[in-house]
Amino acid sequence: MSETTAITVEKEIAKCSKCGKCRSVCPVFIETRSEGMVARGRISLAEALLSGEMRDTAKMRRYLWGCLKCLRCVDACPSGVRFDKIISEARRRVGSRVGMPWFARTAMRLMLPRRWLFDIAVKSAALWEKILPLHREGRIRHLPMLFGDHRSMPELAKKSVLKSFADYYGDENAKRKVALFVGCLGNYAYPEVVTAEIAVLNATGAGVYVPKGQVCCGAAASSLGDEKLLARLERLNEEAFAGLGIEAIIVGCASGGATLKGEYPAITGRENPLGAPVEDFSEYVAKHSEKIKGRFGGQVSWHDPCHLKFVQKVTAPPRELLGKVADYREIEGADYCCGMGGVFSAFFPDISAQIGTRKTDAIRAGGAEVMATGCSGCILQLRDRLAAAGADVKVMHVAEVLAEALEEDSGKDKPGGEESIA
Ligand code: SF4
Ligand code: SF4
Repeated sequence: MSETTAITVEKEIAKCSKCGKCRSVCPVFIETRSEGMVARGRISLAEALLSGEMRDTAKMRRYLWGCLKCLRCVDACPSGVRFDKIISEARRRVGSRVGMPWFARTAMRLMLPRRWLFDIAVKSAALWEKILPLHREGRIRHLPMLFGDHRSMPELAKKSVLKSFADYYGDENAKRKVALFVGCLGNYAYPEVVTAEIAVLNATGAGVYVPKGQVCCGAAASSLGDEKLLARLERLNEEAFAGLGIEAIIVGCASGGATLKGEYPAITGRENPLGAPVEDFSEYVAKHSEKIKGRFGGQVSWHDPCHLKFVQKVTAPPRELLGKVADYREIEGADYCCGMGGVFSAFFPDISAQIGTRKTDAIRAGGAEVMATGCSGCILQLRDRLAAAGADVKVMHVAEVLAEALEEDSGKDKPGGEESIA
């Protein structure tokens, strides 16, 4: 740990008054009632770990990794404690001592920087999906070896977005050009979301690059304290987005956006390490929404991804956009966490499922017909939990709602065309 980091983190730790306000908002504490599973308790553990009073035992790792990094506690903290800085440093400390599970470290270090190897792994998983029995109705199949007894995965695409989409969509002479960061789930599981994002961005008048060299954002590496891997992925993405002459990099996944916006500048010490500002999909589209029209047939509600509301502070743009094209209804608990949290859901499937069920109970109580959101992980979790509850609620990315409204208005073809993997 550098001296500067140590001072900053120590300062943040000292700011905690131990008031316990974070207990009322932490989704993990609400399910577990365990002091080690909330910001206040984790701050005490991090203090002991960083000062050398305690060693990084298995129990310590459970408490540190049992955090969703949703930052609801930071939002609610009356003392302004930057818990995100504290937990990141504690995890980095533990991660750098080879404290993280070996299989996760090895798999991530091998696959995430090498797109070809990641492609092979996903293809193998897709084959497994075919031979495993359907767990539930619809497109969700059960992968017990990866996600325990409660978890499931979406059907994987035959060809990834980065293999089958064109390099550029839109008018060659477009005044505004952007590049799309597709994210791992977008690339392998939700090509239809990427298709919709491109259609909507094109409709705003923007030309859209889909750089083929892009790799995973590194959110999982960051969550597990693997700073080296995060830095490697940042460098690869920097190369992929270089020299495009774009005004922004658009991310349709809140977790990916939070990593690109927050973690990349932090590890590089540069404001825009990818060469252009990073913007959430809805943030950018809302600024250029004059040509977004048409009507989505049905009532829509919004789920705030924690990484969008509490990390990126984006709440109004998706609501404005949905209100423009659909019968929008706000539900109580719109900003309650879905429980996904990336690697959290793999390591703590039971707690993740409990949090997700609390969320889907709120969705059902609110009478939502379609839940729109802006994060691939939230889509996966909400579909899984709603299917588990037998609820007839459709989950869509905000881009899909807008694209459907636009299609209704113009009857245009989707991007991807014949080559589309959708
Ligand atoms: S709300 Fe803030 S000050 Fe209070 S215990 Fe939690 S982290 Fe500490
Ligand atoms: S970041 Fe979220 S899960 Fe972690 S301690 Fe804070 S509220 Fe709880």
